[in-house]
Amino acid sequence: MPHLIERASSGRAKCRGCGEKIPSGELRFGEQLPNPFADGDGALMTHWFHLPCAAYRRPEAFIEGLAETTETIDNSATLEHEAALGVAHRRLPRVSTAERAPTGRANCRACKTLIEKDTWRIALVFYDDGRFVPSGFIHAKCVKDYIETTEIGPRVKHFSPALSEEDLENLTLDL
Ligand SMILES: [Zn+2]
Ligand SMILES: [Zn+2]
Repeated sequence: MPHLIERASSGRAKCRGCGEKIPSGELRFGEQLPNPFADGDGALMTHWFHLPCAAYRRPEAFIEGLAETTETIDNSATLEHEAALGVAHRRLPRVSTAERAPTGRANCRACKTLIEKDTWRIALVFYDDGRFVPSGFIHAKCVKDYIETTEIGPRVKHFSPALSEEDLENLTLDL
């Protein structure tokens, strides 16, 4: 099924990956999926993403789209690298945001022990039928075993734009 990379013709579509609008004129990724609501075989629907959101959250489809597009993408090598990481490590596309735990009530999905207040935690999402559903947290120190790579910096920064460079350095020390 051919996916799309094209300039947004309006600013109305929301990105499936982050929930923000995709500005008119910006390159966007359209994942083509069978449309279960349409009559007849072969009907498609399109899920739109910002290019980085697609590389991080729908890596297989994004790599297929990159291979076929004739658009010039400034940072395509970086995006392709990030998507390839997500294909190689099957849990990596579930990595979403990073924050210091505001309370000490959540258990880590990896090691099942408590994530103490003010320690770094990574929020996970689960892809379910076109939506990314929150699916708990893991300790920063559990990333290596659970995600099988510690190369999460660019995606965590992308999905947590409020993090400072210092935050990211502190987080990295805990990985
Ligand atoms: Zn997005
Ligand atoms: Zn843990």
